[in-house]
Amino acid sequence: MSVAQSTTGAGAVGVPVDTGWETVIGLEVHVQLRTRTKMFCRCENRFGAEPNDLVCPVCLGYPGTLPVTNQRAVDLAIRLALALGCEVRRRSVFARKNYFYPDLPKGYQISQYDQPLAEGGGVPLPSGNTVRIHRLHLEEDAGKLLHEVPGGGPLPGRSLVDFNRCGVPLVEIVTEPEIGSPADAQAYLQVLHQVLLYTGASDGNMEEGSLRCDANLSLRPAGETALGTKTEVKNLNSFRHVAKALEYERERQLHVLTSGGRVEQETRSFEPATGVTRSLRSKEEAHDYRYFPEPDLPTVVLSGERIERQANRLPELPWTKSARFRDAYGLRSEEAALLSGSVALATYYERAVAAHPQGKRTIANWVMTELLRELKERSIDVEQAIAPERLAAVVALVDSGELSTTAAKDVLAEAWDSSETPDQIADRLGLRQVRDDSRLEAWADEAIAANEKAVTEYRGGRQQALGYLVGQIMRASRGSAEPRAAQEILRRKLADGGQ
Ligand SMILES: [Zn+2]
Repeated sequence: MSVAQSTTGAGAVGVPVDTGWETVIGLEVHVQLRTRTKMFCRCENRFGAEPNDLVCPVCLGYPGTLPVTNQRAVDLAIRLALALGCEVRRRSVFARKNYFYPDLPKGYQISQYDQPLAEGGGVPLPSGNTVRIHRLHLEEDAGKLLHEVPGGGPLPGRSLVDFNRCGVPLVEIVTEPEIGSPADAQAYLQVLHQVLLYTGASDGNMEEGSLRCDANLSLRPAGETALGTKTEVKNLNSFRHVAKALEYERERQLHVLTSGGRVEQETRSFEPATGVTRSLRSKEEAHDYRYFPEPDLPTVVLSGERIERQANRLPELPWTKSARFRDAYGLRSEEAALLSGSVALATYYERAVAAHPQGKRTIANWVMTELLRELKERSIDVEQAIAPERLAAVVALVDSGELSTTAAKDVLAEAWDSSETPDQIADRLGLRQVRDDSRLEAWADEAIAANEKAVTEYRGGRQQALGYLVGQIMRASRGSAEPRAAQEILRRKLADGGQ
């Protein structure tokens, strides 16, 4: 596709072509923290309760009530900030963000403004790029408007409000506006999601809204340093939606700019069904939040020991684990990233390797293909899988030439639900490969006698003819011959000139 064609905007999503325009993306991510209770009251922090069951005068904003900071939420936010490499401030301040919306009974949200909990930091992506973090702060969630009766039909012209989510502890993480592509934006979210689960800061459940993303995007002529006018796409709740919405927005802005127009600064929504973003409101309608320090809450003052305690609770982080897998087990970067995708999967792999250390690469293949497929088919988690030591025992039979890969898959399928060892299963099913010389020799003699043409070709220097003869042995043995041993014997016999 030429530059001239791509600037018509008719090109499909993607636009990796050189358009002369540079993409600039910034993300604001809201993460619900995994606490027992809400941010400023004792109500339960739980998804899925009956509407308005988890509320009290504090989170409903009754006059005269006083919020009290949930210290567990502060600790989880500190841990998350440290995992992301942020600088945690010794003093941070809660502020009121004032606006009216029916899901916000207080008329303001308690957030942090000019003195957030943490600043700086960054997340390394598998691509090698790094996404730098601007700030991380604590706040409370708002309620939820329902445009349908729960479990019922639509409510034309009316809405219901569920305040259960009011006051749920949130961390907002804002990146620097310097992500260069929708793919990197998606990768960042995926790594961030891993960090949430690794640290236990959040359950990361996107379907339940534990991780939500607002994405802004602008374009500027390549080489320009000033930022272009940005648009913001609100409330993206899946990795794919973030990439899709940003791809659409990039195309749309490119079309506006290259046809001589100006991008309007506005907030847009994404429609997953059509893949299109639509304008919600322009900047002129945007709020002035009249931030001021929250008078009912003390300054958050953190001791060095308190921050240190959370630092000590940090696990090995996904990118560190991934690099270690690559170096220690000789895996490719993508393999290492996949296997370190969750703590449970990484632990499974390492336990299997511990049981069969020479099989570190073969085990990686079996885990990524056979194991993951079986988990998917059974709709279970890796914790419910066949014990890693048993998987390792199956792989060891392949590595030693006892089982063909095909036979090993049968053994694995049996071993999953049985108490027999993989060795016993291989014997019972008669799947062990024949390496016994006398039987292999008999098959080799047959193959040589019956295939004069191939023998002549091989002796004439055509190596492929040997493969054909091995194939004949495999067929005669109905797949039980060990192919490498069969090949050796053939080679020897043909070199001898013997029959
Ligand atoms: Zn409450």
